[in-house]
Amino acid sequence: MFEYVKDLGLKPSRAYSKRKRTDRILLHHFGSNGSVQSVHDYHIGRGHAGIDYNVVVLANGDVVWGRGLDYCGGSVNNTNAKTKGFNDTSVAIAVQGDIEHNVMPQVQKDALFRVVKDIAQHYGFTRPDQIVGHDEAAGPGYTDCPGKLYPLQEIKEYALGQSVVVPPVIEQPEVSIPKLTRNLKLKSPMMSGEDVRMAQKRLDHHLVDVGGIDGVYGDRTRKGVIAFQKARIAEGYDLGSAGADGVVGWRTWELLWQG
Ligand SMILES: [Zn+2]
Repeated sequence: MFEYVKDLGLKPSRAYSKRKRTDRILLHHFGSNGSVQSVHDYHIGRGHAGIDYNVVVLANGDVVWGRGLDYCGGSVNNTNAKTKGFNDTSVAIAVQGDIEHNVMPQVQKDALFRVVKDIAQHYGFTRPDQIVGHDEAAGPGYTDCPGKLYPLQEIKEYALGQSVVVPPVIEQPEVSIPKLTRNLKLKSPMMSGEDVRMAQKRLDHHLVDVGGIDGVYGDRTRKGVIAFQKARIAEGYDLGSAGADGVVGWRTWELLWQG
């Protein structure tokens, strides 16, 4: 059934554990165009045994094994009560790319639909709650994964071969976040402006030392951003494969305004 899934020969840092039970499929995106190998290396760098996902669907439509079908994953946070234990009972499928901002290429979408349906059939899944997006599993405000342009509902319907009831949208309080018009980072000459000042204020609000709120993106601001990003990653927030890079992009900017 899975003869079309390719094996890239990714080497785990330690042996994966076999999954004893399979309750659901968890759907993710990379959040970037990074390669499978680079995500694998990144997750090992975070202390995981290997790439967090069992299966990856590439932008070109290739389907490849991450950890392989039979193993526990590492794609959701065990400290979140809603997803505690899910890594040991789920098949995690990720797509390459940033589906928060980009529509999947048709060839990728087709491949994704095929493999989700095959895996759902393999485990005899019949209910929409057995095929869930990362954000759906983790609860409101936790992660954007697998991205707002991800065809979640369509996949459920296709894989289960039926029309499923669309769950009601949970209203979240509107938080107005100022628009970020450029990525903030350390460069020469140093970036300065109101956006840098706002980022510093928010870092300060999160008790991160930035060496003074002066509106100039210097090395201490960069170190503060890295500390902030590391703390969010440790809490299970998905910063994409760039990780704690000391750059304030839209995702870090959004997190700065949370809490
Ligand atoms: Zn995810």
